[in-house]
Amino acid sequence: MKYCGECGGMLTRQRVADRDRDICESCGIINYRNPRVIVGAILCWGNKVLMCRRSQHPALGSWSIPGGFLECGETLQQGAARETFEETGVVIKPDALQLYAVMNITAIDQVMVSFRVQLAEKPELRCGPECLDLGFMSEEEMPTSSLAWGEVMGDGPQRFFAELRSGHFSIHLMSIGMEGEPFHNSAYDLR
Ligand code: ZN
Repeated sequence: MKYCGECGGMLTRQRVADRDRDICESCGIINYRNPRVIVGAILCWGNKVLMCRRSQHPALGSWSIPGGFLECGETLQQGAARETFEETGVVIKPDALQLYAVMNITAIDQVMVSFRVQLAEKPELRCGPECLDLGFMSEEEMPTSSLAWGEVMGDGPQRFFAELRSGHFSIHLMSIGMEGEPFHNSAYDLR
């Protein structure tokens, strides 16, 4: 941030208590920076998961689940359903989404919340503008060397497929292992 959100004045970085803050030179208020929320959806059809090949940075050309930034006024599920439609053309009801994981990504000041849904039939797919290619993939078909953020996701994908095979899901609290921190996952069993 460069300019004050309240008055448009110039911001300067100053130490307040134990954190650096953006303080307006004109009105003096602190312009807080807070993490952004990303929502994602894991669409399952049988033992396969819908993956999108990204047409945008970061991770251009690599594969991820549909997802993106939550908009103001949306519930988490509405955001995940909207992003899924924009990227894949698949319509899902927000209420059909089950919570799967909450992820700390402190290295880039983001929190990701992902949901899962089991589809009864294979849907029509249509690549949105943020997507180069789309497809349902089994665990064996996953492009492990070109998964977006695959190197910091630990055994996250394997855990998901193991739960998908068993039909017993947990809710996961994850911390993405960026900047040398290890991937961490606590699972809360729903049974
Ligand atoms: Zn100001």
